[in-house]
Amino acid sequence: MTGEQGGCHCGAIKIRLSFNPVEATECDCSICRRTGALWTYGSPDEIEVSGTGVGYVQGDATLTNWHCGTCGIITHWTPVNPEYGRMGVNLRIFATELWENLPQKLVDGANW
Ligand SMILES: [Zn+2]
Repeated sequence: MTGEQGGCHCGAIKIRLSFNPVEATECDCSICRRTGALWTYGSPDEIEVSGTGVGYVQGDATLTNWHCGTCGIITHWTPVNPEYGRMGVNLRIFATELWENLPQKLVDGANW
C-alpha cells in the first residue's frame, strides 16, 4: 500500500492510508473529548496497520479504541462488528501537513 504513513510516538504502531483525507472530524464523545483525536475514516482495505496496540472497548461496545502500550498514543479505532466496514484513524499521528489545513467537522458524539 502506498500513501501517507503515520505512527505512534515510539514507532511501535504504524498506519498507512491509501487515500488522502478530505476532512478532519473532531468528536465530543466521552473518549474523544479526553484524547483530542482528529479522525478520518475509511474501509479497512484502505488502511494498513502494523504493530499491536492495546484495545479499549467503550461503553456501548461498538468500537475498539486502540492505543500504544508503550507511548500511550491513540492511533485508531476498529468496529467490534467487522460488518460495519469502516474504521477511524487519528490524523494527529501523521505529519501536520496532511491534516492541518483540512476543513474540520464537529461530530456531536456525546448525544448519539
Ligand atoms: Zn508507541
